[in-house]
Order: sequence, then C-alpha cells, then structure tokens
Amino acid sequence: MLLAISGAIFLGWFCSRFFGAIGYWAGPLFLAIMALQAVGRMLRLFWQWQLTIWGLSITGTMIVVIIVVLAKTHDRWGAKCAICGQVLHIGQTLYLKDGHICAICAGKVGLKPDSIGNKAASILTVDHVKASQQAGRTIDATEFWQHHQTRIKEREEARTAEYHQLKTYFKQHHTARYGSLYFDDQSKRLFFDETLKNIIYKYVYRVYDYRDLIDYQVKQHNVDIIEHTKVVGAFVNGGYYPGYENDSVTPTVSEYKVVLYFSQEREETITLVDGRLKKDSLRWAWAQRRMKKLCASFDHVIDIANHDLAAENAKHTHYYHKNFKMTSRPH
Ligand SMILES: [Zn+2]
Repeated sequence: MLLAISGAIFLGWFCSRFFGAIGYWAGPLFLAIMALQAVGRMLRLFWQWQLTIWGLSITGTMIVVIIVVLAKTHDRWGAKCAICGQVLHIGQTLYLKDGHICAICAGKVGLKPDSIGNKAASILTVDHVKASQQAGRTIDATEFWQHHQTRIKEREEARTAEYHQLKTYFKQHHTARYGSLYFDDQSKRLFFDETLKNIIYKYVYRVYDYRDLIDYQVKQHNVDIIEHTKVVGAFVNGGYYPGYENDSVTPTVSEYKVVLYFSQEREETITLVDGRLKKDSLRWAWAQRRMKKLCASFDHVIDIANHDLAAENAKHTHYYHKNFKMTSRPH
C-alpha cells in the first residue's frame, strides 16, 4: 500500500516533468487502477468462496434470517391505514386516490377489497371515506363507479358539443384564417383547432380572448451551407490549366416560427418552416409573405385589445374624477 502511494507520488512528479501540470494526474490515475484491480481480485475470491458448500449455506442462512426479521418487524416499517393507522396487508388494502386504507375501515362504509371496490376506491379520497364513516353513510361501490363513468361520458359529450359549436361559429364568422387558426373581430376571440392534426385525442382546440394575447415573437434560425470545391491544375496538350478552389455558400433557413404569449403563461407556436429551406426558393418567399400577414393580424389583435383596455381605463378614470369632485366639495 505504502509502496503504491509513494509510487503514485513519484509517477506524478516524474510525468509533470515532461507533460506539465497535466502530468500530476498520472499519480491518482495509477492509484485508481491499482484500487480497481484490488477490488476485482476481492470480488473474484468472494465469488469462488460463494460456490463452495460453506459459502452457499452461510449466504442462504443470512437471506432466511433477513426475511424472517423483515416479516417480524413488518408492524414497524409497513405501510399503515390512513384512517386507523393499522399496518396494511396485501389483499386487505384499498388504494384510494390519496392514500391506502385497511379492509376494516373500508368495511365500515360498505366497501370491500374486491375488483369493483378497488375501482371505486381509485376515485375516492381518504376525506370522503372519513366523512362517510362519521355520518354513518355507506358507499355503494357499483353505483359510485357507474356514476363516475357517466360523469366522464357527459363531460366528453359536452366537450364534443362545444367543439362543434365553436367550429361552426368560427367557420361562419371568422375575419381571418391561417390554416387551423381563426380570428374573429366580432367576438374578439382566437380559435386554435388542432382536431384534424390529432389522431389519439379526439378534440384538441383552444379559445383565447384577444385581450389574453400579451405579445408574440418571430423566431428564425439561419444556417449557411458551405460547399468546398477544389480543382487541381493540369497540363493539357502542352498548356497548363491552373487549378482553383471555390467555396459556394447557400444561405438556408432551418426554422421559422412565431411564438404567441398569452396571459397565465399560456403559449402557442405556429411553425412556418421546419427543416432546411433555401433562401432563394419560392417556398421561403411564400413563408415570409405568410409571416408578414400573420404578424399584421396579431398586431391587429393587440391593437383591439389595447383600445378596449384604454376605453375601460377611461371609464374608470371618469368615475374616479366624479368621486373626487364629490369628496372635495367644500362643506
Ligand atoms: Zn383502517
């Protein structure tokens, strides 16, 4: 050991002579390799011992002892009922939304740890069960679960109806439209309809009031593609044709989008270019025109919202002045 450490120090000093400060690392590296080798040797020895009858029986006994100790002390470390505090046992536990309870506490409100009982439990809270217990009410698991399912279905149906209503409205009344984004100056709302883009979730849409739009930002990422051409000079028919080198630069755009910032930290992104697009292409010209129109529309939205806000403030100011005059009237 001492030999290894002194060896490492010497190695560090020796290497630093040749490689500068970085050479000092040779010492710790040397020690680390030695340590790893020692650990590897010990592990190998341990494994060899493990395969003997002695190793097997001692390890086996240790595992059995650990299991017995854990089982005996289960009361101390096991999960406990959120209501009575008794240790929970597998098969006699109900898993609620926000905690576990024992079958005895669950039984007091008529719940059993069977399949329908556990389904109902998954949408119940500990407080709900406690309140039912105190009021002497029972919970009918089947009824509770079915009621929940109906509620989910109703919510879905309401959402579907709302979507179709919005879609119909914006289709008829929109003042501007860019793909799946509708503007409506009359109701002063924006409608993002992503239902067609989504296959998994049926109705994906968002509605914003004009006044929710705080700001927007155009984000553009430029990339230049540089191609290097080299032609070597050559003698042809007695004449020398000199070689040349050429760097051709193709300016491209790899990303072009507008990010909208709404109140309550909501964001929307409209991507116009995703992937390489040459700047001399027709599609890039189209994207720029579209972006210009989009930005004009967002400016228009912000203008309307600001105008409304100013009008509202004026109303408040007027009200304030009126009050002020009243209170400052001489007595
Ligand atoms: Zn309990």
